[in-house]
Amino acid sequence: MKKLEQIYEGKAKKVFKTDDPDLYIIDYKDDATAGNGAKKGTIAGKGVINNKMTCSIYKMLESKGIPTHLVKMLSDTEQLDKAVTIFPLEVIVRNTAAGSMSKRVGVPEGTVLTEPIFELSYKNDDYNDPLINDDYAVALNLCTRDEMSQIREMTLKINDILKAYFLEKGVNLVDFKIEFGKTNDGAIVLADEISPDTCRFWDVKTGEKLDKDRFRRDMGNIEEAYQEMLKRVDG
Ligand code: UDP
Repeated sequence: MKKLEQIYEGKAKKVFKTDDPDLYIIDYKDDATAGNGAKKGTIAGKGVINNKMTCSIYKMLESKGIPTHLVKMLSDTEQLDKAVTIFPLEVIVRNTAAGSMSKRVGVPEGTVLTEPIFELSYKNDDYNDPLINDDYAVALNLCTRDEMSQIREMTLKINDILKAYFLEKGVNLVDFKIEFGKTNDGAIVLADEISPDTCRFWDVKTGEKLDKDRFRRDMGNIEEAYQEMLKRVDG
């Protein structure tokens, strides 16, 4: 598979065309940002960890009937993926209150929620990815009503699978962000990554944070936390 021109560079990944119009190569970087780019840095080894973890989790999700963009892992930092158009939506699920939700609603971090919350943000950096809901998404043509129902249904199923999967590994899945894309033949698939950059992982026994909050909040031992999460997933 030939890697052709780069079509996109985001905060944590680069996307390349290939000689097949239905396939992309995604290369994971060590760069880290927080607060919509206000804080910048690098986390040594992050590209390798997030690529490997995403590939393992996507394979597991595929085996449980969730369609994803992943074709296969190509190298430590690269994966071959189906070409998709990403819906401009950040789909967030919360099982326990934390982060922006705690600040916005005044619910202390760690409060276990009675039901998972399905939350949407509009991917728009100029407006700091504003919180929206499903009616906004449809009214703004970010997706159709039918696509929204599919996205919601897939998301809640993914949450059920991931919660149980991480619990077995001694990790409480507090919240996470996922993205969906549409393939050239119109199928909706899970895209982007599932990693310590995009999830809150708390150790079940100690409550220790094993995710990007260590970077956002200058808590130290960032690389160690990411390595520990890869060990739990792959080890
Ligand atoms: N998240 C993400 N990218 C974003 C915003 C949030 O991956 O641009 C993830 C974040 O890691 C967390 C969940 O989505 O697992 C909920 O984040 P929250 O809204 O609490 O935002 P934060 O506190 O990070 O600003």
